[in-house]
Amino acid sequence: MTLSRAGRQAEFPARFQLVAAMNPCPCGYLGHPGGRCHCSRDRVDRYRARLSGPLLDRIDLHLDVPAVCEAALFDATPGEPSEAVRGRVIEARERQWARQSCSNARLGVADIDRWCHCDPAATELLRQAVRQFNVSARALHRVLKVARTLADLAHADTISAAAVAESLRYRPADDRSAGVRPGAV
Ligand SMILES: [Zn+2]
Repeated sequence: MTLSRAGRQAEFPARFQLVAAMNPCPCGYLGHPGGRCHCSRDRVDRYRARLSGPLLDRIDLHLDVPAVCEAALFDATPGEPSEAVRGRVIEARERQWARQSCSNARLGVADIDRWCHCDPAATELLRQAVRQFNVSARALHRVLKVARTLADLAHADTISAAAVAESLRYRPADDRSAGVRPGAV
């Protein structure tokens, strides 16, 4: 990253992982089962437009985290232990390094062609996504890299339609609302 201020320039390393959270609307309760949100559609749109499309495009995984209802808070069954998840992640990363000597996140455009092979159904789903959800070239590359990681987690050499569909679900909600929900394909 190069910072230029008043005729002086400084360079800083900038390889980082960004984790960010935002509210769904100005009051924070949009979609809450208690119906507490009274924000107008227009206010919600203006609030969300504060983050530009090109910025959102560069974030690989977008997740909606709905409010947890009271019953789930008190009766939640224990989930999978983090240690088990950690093992899967390490294994998937080892696959990536063995194949291409870097993580999927660091693949350049030419490397994506080389390493992100899709089966015919996955390719067709991607084409459909580009047509229906207005997916940009930059977003498409990110969808492919995330799908490659999902395939690595499943020990698969080729990217399946299921991996592409899941990867598309991590795109910003606005990409997805432009057409059919990817999960339905
Ligand atoms: Zn609201």
